[in-house]
Amino acid sequence: MYTAIGYAAQSATAPLAPMTFERRALRPDDVAIEILYCGVCHSDIHQARNEWGIAVYPLMPGHEIVGRVTAVGANVSRYNVGDNVGVGCMVDSCQHCEACRSDLEQYCQEGPTMTYATADRIDGSNTMGGYSNSIVVSERFVLRIPASLDLPGAAPILCAGITTYSPLKHYGVKAGDRVGILGMGGLGHMGIKFAKAMGAEVTLFTRSPSKAEEARKQGADHVIVSTDPAQMQAASEHFDFLLDTIPVQHDLNPYLQTLKFDGVHILVGLIEPVDPALHAANLVLKRRVLGGSLIGGIAETQEVLEYCAEHGIRCDIEMLDIRHINEAYSRMIAGDVKYRFVIDMATLKG
Ligand code: NDP
Ligand code: ZN
Repeated sequence: MYTAIGYAAQSATAPLAPMTFERRALRPDDVAIEILYCGVCHSDIHQARNEWGIAVYPLMPGHEIVGRVTAVGANVSRYNVGDNVGVGCMVDSCQHCEACRSDLEQYCQEGPTMTYATADRIDGSNTMGGYSNSIVVSERFVLRIPASLDLPGAAPILCAGITTYSPLKHYGVKAGDRVGILGMGGLGHMGIKFAKAMGAEVTLFTRSPSKAEEARKQGADHVIVSTDPAQMQAASEHFDFLLDTIPVQHDLNPYLQTLKFDGVHILVGLIEPVDPALHAANLVLKRRVLGGSLIGGIAETQEVLEYCAEHGIRCDIEMLDIRHINEAYSRMIAGDVKYRFVIDMATLKG
C-alpha cells in the first residue's frame, strides 16, 4: 500500500479538506502515477455535493489527471517509469461486453468503474480521484500524453476534451456544417475549438453577453445571447447540430427550434429530468433528434490527445493552488473561470 494525500468531501455539505488515505499495492497490470496536475470539472462539484444522488463518501474528485509514472507492475508492457501519462474519467470496465469490445468502455454493460466514488472491481474499495498526489491504475486505462502538449494544458482534454470531441465525431460533423455550442465553460470552450477544427461554422449560445468577444477568440464565428428571445428567433431552423453543455435544467424547446430538419441536439451537461417539458412537436415535425453522450472510450481518448497535438488545440487554463479548491468551486458556479481550473499538485505539499 502507498500512503497518499488529497482533498476530499466527507459529506454533501462539507467543504473539501485534506485527507490521508491508502492507495493499493500494485497489481501485475497496474501503473503507479505521481499526479502533477488535475483539472477541475463541473462533474466534480455535482458529485462532491451529491447532486446526482450517487456520491460515496469520503469523495475525492478529479478525473483530468496528468502525471509521471513512478512504478509499474510485473505485467505492464506499455509504460515505463518516467513516462508522462494521463487518467480520465474511468479506471476499469468489464472488458468483455459488447460495449467494451467496441472500445466504448464508458457504456460498459456491467457499468464502468469511474475514477472516483465507484467500487473497485477487485477489492470493492471506493475509488479516489485525482485531487491527490498519486494514483494506481491498470495500464489499460492509462493514456499517453503526446510530447508536444504541455502537461497542465493537456489535463482537461481527458474529460472536457473527449466529451466534446466524441459526439461531434460520432454524429459526423463536417466542413460547412452549422454547429451551435451551448454554454462556454470547460466543455464548451473545447467544443468550439473542435467544431472549428472540423471545419464547421460555429456559434456559441451563451447567457453571458460579456463572453462574446472571447468566444470569437476561441474560434466561434457567431454568438447568440440565449436570454434574448429575438436572437433565438432569428436563428430559427438554422443549425445542423447543437452540443449542449449547460449543467442545469433548462428549456430545450427554444434551442430545438434553431435546428434545421434532421438536426441533432446532443446533451452532455444534463443528467436530470428535462424541465420544462419537451414539446414533442419540436422533434416530430422536423425529424429532429435529441440524444446524449458520455465522455468517450479509452482508444478515442488517446485519439483526441493526438488530435490536439496535431491541430495545436490547447485548453485555456487557470492554475489553481489546491488550498483554494472550495473558492474555485464557487467561482465555477458563478461562471468565473477561463475556462478550466487545473490544480498544480505541488501546492499540496506547500
Ligand atoms: P462549467 O461550469 O465549466 O461550464 C458550464 C457553462 O454552462 C457555463 O460556463 C455557462 O456558460 C453555462 N451555464 C452555467 N450555469 C448555467 C445556467 N444556470 N443556465 C444556463 N447556462 C448555464 O462546466 P463544465 O463545462 O465542466 O461541465 C458542463 C456540464 O457537463 C456539467 O454538468 C458536467 O457535469 C457535465 N459533464 C458531462 C460529461 C459527459 O460525459 N456527458 C463529462 C464532463 C462533464 P455561459 O456563461 O456561456 O452561458
Ligand atoms: Zn469531467
